[in-house]
Amino acid sequence: MRKVLIANWKMYYGPVKAGAWVRAFRRERLPKDIDISIAVPFVSLAAARASLGRATIPALAAQDVFWEKEGAFTGEVSPSMLLEFGVSVCIVGHSERRLLVGETDEMVAKKAEALQKAGITPVICVGETEAQRKKGQAAKVVRAQVEAAIKDVKPDGKAAAIIAYEPIWAIGTGKPCRPVDAKEMHDVIRDVIAKVWGARYRDDIRVIYGGSVNERNVTEYTTTTGIDGALVGSASLDPRTFALVCRAAVPA
Ligand code: PEP
Repeated sequence: MRKVLIANWKMYYGPVKAGAWVRAFRRERLPKDIDISIAVPFVSLAAARASLGRATIPALAAQDVFWEKEGAFTGEVSPSMLLEFGVSVCIVGHSERRLLVGETDEMVAKKAEALQKAGITPVICVGETEAQRKKGQAAKVVRAQVEAAIKDVKPDGKAAAIIAYEPIWAIGTGKPCRPVDAKEMHDVIRDVIAKVWGARYRDDIRVIYGGSVNERNVTEYTTTTGIDGALVGSASLDPRTFALVCRAAVPA
């Protein structure tokens, strides 16, 4: 299965800086045998698209979406609006949205389903807090999040979901989860996939890791069986650093 790397800029870079980032990144040498996406703020999609031109690498991603097609939903953005910018991937259920904006498992499920119907790959983020891990509840929490999110999602097709295991205590802290522990949680996620979608999908769905991944540690994850790539926050803010992450992700 092809590895995937997704840059998550979070709430950084308006249109001017986004355009400059894309132009700088396009000058970098990038591996061909990996899927690379950049999740940019809504307001920067047009600038990023313009700087990408006809280039398909990196693919354009969004950081959130609303599940309705259109209507009286002030402030929201629909899957079809994202399609107009050529967005092919969209993050849902990031822990920052769950914690800061109150996104629930039910909302994540609706967003994932709506994205897939529009042909956009949902990247469903799940992960436990530090307190939950310390109490031995990590597997239980993540199992419930994945079950709730994928119930109406299809495992097949060009927009097959990607699941991102992102332990909250590892995001933006510089304290990554050890690959062996991440692998254990990826196995938990794959067990849910097998239960909900059937055993044949257990190893067919991309499950990626996120949390303090950088150019020095990315190889440890991408070379671990069952970890299909990474979601990268801080280390994606500089285009040269993110290019280093991309190159290190697929060692020669
Ligand atoms: C993220 O934003 O999903 C993330 C993993 O951030 P960081 O790489 O900074 O931990």
